[in-house]
Amino acid sequence: MRKCVLHCVIFLLAGAAAANAAPPAAAPCRTSGSFEAWLAAFEREAMAQGISQATIASAAPSLTYDQKIVYIDRGQRVFTQTFLEFAGRMAAAYRIQRGQQLIKANAGVFARIEQQYGVPAPVIVSFWGLESDFGANMGKYHSLSAIASLAYDCRRSERFRAQLLDALHLIERHDLAADDMIGSWAGELGQTQMMPSEYNQYGVDFDGDGKRDLIHSVPDVLASTANYLHGLGWKRGEPWLSEVRVPANVPWDQADLSITLPRSKWASFGVTLADGRPLPADNLGASLLLPMGRLGPAFLAYQNFQVYLQWNNSLVYSTTAAYLATRIAGAPAMTHVTPPPALAFNDVKDLQARLAHAGYDVGAIDGFLGLKTRQAVKAMQLKYGLPADSYPTAELLARMRGG
Ligand code: CA
Repeated sequence: MRKCVLHCVIFLLAGAAAANAAPPAAAPCRTSGSFEAWLAAFEREAMAQGISQATIASAAPSLTYDQKIVYIDRGQRVFTQTFLEFAGRMAAAYRIQRGQQLIKANAGVFARIEQQYGVPAPVIVSFWGLESDFGANMGKYHSLSAIASLAYDCRRSERFRAQLLDALHLIERHDLAADDMIGSWAGELGQTQMMPSEYNQYGVDFDGDGKRDLIHSVPDVLASTANYLHGLGWKRGEPWLSEVRVPANVPWDQADLSITLPRSKWASFGVTLADGRPLPADNLGASLLLPMGRLGPAFLAYQNFQVYLQWNNSLVYSTTAAYLATRIAGAPAMTHVTPPPALAFNDVKDLQARLAHAGYDVGAIDGFLGLKTRQAVKAMQLKYGLPADSYPTAELLARMRGG
């Protein structure tokens, strides 16, 4: 799973003193030994795994410890945004138009990609737009230093050690030079922000120059992204998301990403296309997705939507990316709706604590409305006899606070 990139606002604590004074999430582990000793051991392991002396020498100037990266990682503060806020910002008109222009400009490449990997152009382009604004903003950190720092730090050492090894493999294969490896602070690289392991596994040389260059080569970026999506299970020729209109008497507890019903069943509940026309009454499976509850936007999420959740586990990000792809593919803007105000961060935390206390699994009590918290909310709504749309409201929280 990826870390949050564009959908998060990260606040750097101002300097080491502040970071020390207010550790946001106290590390439950201790980093021991010097970075130099750690690096020497890592380099021995890399050479045992086939990385050449020449690659290590070219990487050496960037294999440095950067305390700032660890501070960012430990201190990340994330402001939650609702789907409507995030989609309003990210699925902006200029991004839709630019995506459509880029599909036209690269029509031949996209045709070859769809034939080979089964992933349509708007889906690829929406990730391209969200992750780097089509290559304009790929991050500014030295990847090797960032990944080495996170691998040396005790918190997720094994995970980033493996990423660092894959980063060296990219140099070994001459996909990228060490100096080219500039990306996000968390190690993602290239125009669709892949981690080195994803890059190594799914990278494709699509312009035929022998290198898989996800920083400079647009054909490589697009084909590699498609290959990755295909690897995550993308189903050729199937939709991913479509906006729908839902009657007030739909069984709300069926609106759940873990429940898949044939479109004909949704039609029998009175669900229609967004413009009121009937849904195709066929057997294609879909889930009813209500990112902001029953009074917010409504979508049918098809099996391909699961690929979005694997790209990024955030429901807000995934729904936005899938929606942006439908817009680039020509769907009209979603219907204007006004769901009740979202619970504030601290209220979500309070709600999570109360749900956990009542015995429900909400995952971490972190103020984020993740899939587990939504499941717990649904269980509580059912218990109280409220419409069980999995979306927490002030009413639900008041009921829980009341006892
Ligand atoms: Ca290439």
